[in-house]
Amino acid sequence: MTVKHISVIGGGTMGNGIAHVAAQSGFSVTLIDISEEALSRAIATITKNLGRMVAKGKISDEDQANTLARITTSTSIEQGVKQADVVIEAVNENFELKKKIFQTVEASVSEHTILASNTSSISITKLAGVTKRPEKVIGMHFFNPVPIMKLVEIVNGLDTSKEVYDVIEQLSKDMGKIPVPVNDFPGFVSNRVLMPMINEAIFCVHEGVATPENVDEVMKLGMAHPMGPLRLADFIGLDVCLDILNVLYDGFKDPKYRPCPLLVKMVDAGKLGDKSGQGFYNYSKN
Ligand code: NAD
Repeated sequence: MTVKHISVIGGGTMGNGIAHVAAQSGFSVTLIDISEEALSRAIATITKNLGRMVAKGKISDEDQANTLARITTSTSIEQGVKQADVVIEAVNENFELKKKIFQTVEASVSEHTILASNTSSISITKLAGVTKRPEKVIGMHFFNPVPIMKLVEIVNGLDTSKEVYDVIEQLSKDMGKIPVPVNDFPGFVSNRVLMPMINEAIFCVHEGVATPENVDEVMKLGMAHPMGPLRLADFIGLDVCLDILNVLYDGFKDPKYRPCPLLVKMVDAGKLGDKSGQGFYNYSKN
């Protein structure tokens, strides 16, 4: 199967990045969101990010124009997925929402169309189970910021076919990414390894072992991490970290994934990291 047209559902942080990279790699793309405002914001972000690449001399003005010309937008899933060989869903992390979208998509696409989800923590097998084509459902877990981060974790659900895996592996390469296959277990590999580290870093603060700055210094200077775990947690969003830890905790029923009480308290207090202006660090303008 040759992939020509990709429809991306959700033009937020991840969706606009996925549409950007797909269009820049030569695919024709339809970007779908709930409103014209959301779509305008997404296109503005893509334009700004492409402009930055032009300014750095990484692409030409012509590349920027051609990339933008390959993207069309739609507020209708039914219309927006009609031509798609692959649909990549990147809406909010909510199973009921994704379920509804997968069922709407399935009713509007061709028989050969592959349904991929960028979910960070929802089971691909469970999403596949709401469709009549579980062998054509797969995870494409991109990383933020999508135009920069090379990794795509390709998540095989229980019934994902080898043929579909091969198409998505090639597609990831054609998008300039490095695909790594994983099987469908809570947190896949990325979050299963990352989140316990972040949680343990929070326990270090909670128990008074060290300040956030010092925990991050240890991990940067001693382990050569480019960013300390608490700075990274703020960047990801402390609410997102808590949600993912709860997915691991519930999924494995193993106390080793118990979210640190300090994390729970900070989320309750609305201290969510970069997006709220306060997390383990202060991001307010002052
Ligand atoms: P976001 O909130 O930035 O964007 C979600 C977008 O989906 C919004 O633009 C919203 O309007 C749109 N949307 C909601 N309902 C819709 C509908 N019915 N039809 C069309 N569009 C709809 O979220 P995000 O951070 O981009 O996350 C999207 C997905 O990617 C989630 O599953 C998340 O777990 C996953 N993910 C996020 C990150 C990250 O770092 N942000 C990393 C990897 C994976």
